[in-house]
Amino acid sequence: MPDPAVESANPHFLAAQGEMGALMRAFEWETSPLGLPALWPQSLKTAAGICLHSRFPMLIWWGQALTVLYNDAYRPILGAKHPSALGQSGEECWREIWPVIGPLLSNVLQHGQSTWSADQLLLLERNGYQEECYFTFSFSPIHDESGGIGGVFTATTETTDRVLNERRLRTLNELGDALAGLGEGAAVCRAAAEVLARNPNDLPFSLIYGLDASGVRANLLASSGSLPAGCGGTVRLVPGADDPLARSVQRVLESGEAQSLELPAGGATASGPRAVVIPVRTGQQVLPVALLVAGLNPTRTDDAGYRSFIAAIASHLGAALTNAQAHQIERQRVAALAELDRAKTDFFSDISHELRTPLALMVGPLELLLQGRADGSEMDTLRMAHRNALRLRELIDRLLDFSRIEAGRMQPRLEPTDLAAATTEIAAMFRSAIEEAGLRLMIDCPPQPRAAWVDRPMWEKIIVSFLSNAYKYTERGEIEVRLQQQDDCVVLQVRDTGCGIAPLHLPRIFDRFYRVEGARGRTDEGSGIGLALVRELVQLHDGAIDVASEPGEGSVFTVVLPLASADDEFGTVPGDDNVRPWHGSVHAGLDELERLAGSAVAVAGTQLDLELPPAAAATCVLVVDDNADMRSYVARLLAPRWQVQFASDSVQALAALRERPFDLVISDVSLPGQDGLALVRSLRADPELRAVPVLLLSAFSGEEARLDGLAAGADDYLVKPFSARELVARVENQLMRAKVHQIHDAINRRLSRVFQQMPAAVALLAGPQHRFEFANPAYEKLVGRRVPIGRTVAEIFPELAGQGVFEMLDGVYRSGESVSGDALRVELREEASGRLQEHFFAFVYQPMTDTEGSVSGIAVVAYDVSSLVGARRAAETATRTKDEFIAMLGHELRNPLAPIVTALHLMRLQSGDVAVRERAIIERQVQHMVALIDDLLDVARITRGTVQLKRVPLELWGVVAKAV
Ligand code: ADP
Repeated sequence: MPDPAVESANPHFLAAQGEMGALMRAFEWETSPLGLPALWPQSLKTAAGICLHSRFPMLIWWGQALTVLYNDAYRPILGAKHPSALGQSGEECWREIWPVIGPLLSNVLQHGQSTWSADQLLLLERNGYQEECYFTFSFSPIHDESGGIGGVFTATTETTDRVLNERRLRTLNELGDALAGLGEGAAVCRAAAEVLARNPNDLPFSLIYGLDASGVRANLLASSGSLPAGCGGTVRLVPGADDPLARSVQRVLESGEAQSLELPAGGATASGPRAVVIPVRTGQQVLPVALLVAGLNPTRTDDAGYRSFIAAIASHLGAALTNAQAHQIERQRVAALAELDRAKTDFFSDISHELRTPLALMVGPLELLLQGRADGSEMDTLRMAHRNALRLRELIDRLLDFSRIEAGRMQPRLEPTDLAAATTEIAAMFRSAIEEAGLRLMIDCPPQPRAAWVDRPMWEKIIVSFLSNAYKYTERGEIEVRLQQQDDCVVLQVRDTGCGIAPLHLPRIFDRFYRVEGARGRTDEGSGIGLALVRELVQLHDGAIDVASEPGEGSVFTVVLPLASADDEFGTVPGDDNVRPWHGSVHAGLDELERLAGSAVAVAGTQLDLELPPAAAATCVLVVDDNADMRSYVARLLAPRWQVQFASDSVQALAALRERPFDLVISDVSLPGQDGLALVRSLRADPELRAVPVLLLSAFSGEEARLDGLAAGADDYLVKPFSARELVARVENQLMRAKVHQIHDAINRRLSRVFQQMPAAVALLAGPQHRFEFANPAYEKLVGRRVPIGRTVAEIFPELAGQGVFEMLDGVYRSGESVSGDALRVELREEASGRLQEHFFAFVYQPMTDTEGSVSGIAVVAYDVSSLVGARRAAETATRTKDEFIAMLGHELRNPLAPIVTALHLMRLQSGDVAVRERAIIERQVQHMVALIDDLLDVARITRGTVQLKRVPLELWGVVAKAV
């Protein structure tokens, strides 16, 4: 049996274990509105007992003041409010959230209905700061003994961790989706910022900075939220920077770890926004490529969960940037492959040109010799074939060299060499060729104290390539070859004052197959492997190659080779020179220069000194080719029949064409500077030169190349190598066509003049729309307005709609049958007055057919007959009046005759024999008159058209007999 005194001090419902049981028991309840527990209503006692014994977080609000009682499990929810919350009024305890829960509680008290709130956001201040928390809870009424509601029972769970985790997981998932497959770093950062912006609770702001390669600057790539003060576009990473962001970034870079950042306070707030700066790494790299500055939620502490969320964002970003980098590398690789492929394609077409031209110049001359048509200049012809055979060999050797290097099969035989002597010797062999072209050659190769390890034939190839390029691309000025020793290296420089190379091309000039399109030189020939070969040769010597150039000023090619050790002697020329001929490249190079020199000699407008038959002199052909052999070969073929002049490039060709007329231009497609296609375009755009026929010669076979040529406006296209007969036949054909064109033009001009001067109105209408193709002045006069060519009949004569003219024209166009009329009535609007005026035209609409026989237009010939029609109308009116008069007269005359006939009849009956003769006379005369008047009436009826024929079968003989 419990002791009542003890029972009143410590009622059994407070006898629970735990802190709250003890606190409740020790609490001075008499100071609270609840009073001593022993005196509490049973309902409260019961509720308090349940609450204290439960391990689920519970709280009881009791009485008017909603005095607070809670259990052990509820303590963490209260935070620092525990234990002072016990016995406090509800409002005092939960002041910061009272606006949310107060109304809910009073509703329960008043109406007795329970509430349910799931994951309700409540901003608690239980730990000295405003904290974003989530709860799922229910308020339910506690009925007291009076039957009313004495208090409210609350069971609650805090769901903050779950809500935050779900929210953060959502962001990470979205990030994963948004960043997947992005192939570009900037796009990754932008997409990430967009996703982060959708979670402003965890990331009030974010900034993604890219670190530049120098490591002294971080540039803002993307951001979300409103950027706090002190977060700019670029962060300069200088040691000791006083800007907090820069300091944090510096610390991140030094430590490789995430760092906290407190930004300066803005406005009235005491503390500034907080953030974490975290490195973003790609792949396995130690150094970050970017930095994420993640703003922190001020109502959350940056606990481990928060930190790991931000770390997960950084690692997503890093993974996406790694992918983007891989994409980028892949793209660059594909682009490089595509570029190489393109260069290879160009190379094959260039090389086909390079091979076909000398081939054409061997096949053609040899054919001439075989046919015995070499015009006594057999030696010249043979020389030409030989020269081109050498060129072909040179090209093939180069290709073979190149492929051997590519396959790694070319190994240098290095020997200590006196490079100054070797270089001087090689360069000197070019002197006369270079000076003959009007250029100066300077050789500055002072003796070197030390030897260099080189493969001599390769060194020769290098110098020859540089010199022949310098010669090719230098039209005036000088070429200099210098050799100097610098430290442990020897430096070769080949300088020219030629066309130079644009900066755009410089980085690629040593690439395989790379050529500068349209470079101004002595020729357009080239395969783009010369310099690539030189670079390979230099690299086989562990050397370096470079070029400096200024367009229009010239170029300097530099090769640096390591020198041999100090005690190396200069080597001697090895004994197996027969196998690897020293100076072989020089000879080939000189041959090429000689060939190019030939190109330069036969310059524009130089008339070939050939004997021309006088009749042919009238027809003149211009041959444009930069290859001298090709020019003289073509000349040899054409000169017996036509007058031939030359140009070696487009500029010279245009100048020659502007100076005098040519009947035909034969041009190579490959020309230095502006190519053959561009030359054709220039001609077609020039009103003076538009009509000159052009025959293109090209090494590019294939339909596409042909179509390109024809699309540019060429009249014919001939692929090298071609036979002599074929060239002559094509030229003949072109000249013939040009003649036919000329004749056509003359006829057309003449016809046009005839039509212009014709007195009748003539117009030609084309197509189903009846567009005016021609209208002579008489026509314009006839219709009283100007008739612009190209406009349709309906456009010029809108008033004719509904008058049958359009229909008639359509009919003629459709049926192909001509239509004519001698007085077509139409109403035309008078331009001056705007009134419709009646016109009568005699006209013919004659269909015109094209070569296939289908109607292509209508010729109109018309004559104004308005005045004739007027006259005819007047005459018709006069005739009608006369006929009416005669008819009227007939009737008038007949009227008195009727009584006279009757009177005569009566007289015959009454008078017997009296005056028989006289009566007979009168009767005869009267009948005669009746007959006359009947005839008169018949005539009038016939002319007025009132007689109807009544056709009956008749015995003509009888009638005639009767009449007779
Ligand atoms: P190619 O056989 O076509 O001449 P290279 O590899 O020798 O090939 O040269 C590549 C390109 O470099 C040429 O198309 C030319 O435009 C340019 N080039 C080479 N040497 C010079 C030079 N000395 N001056 C100007 N351009 C040059």
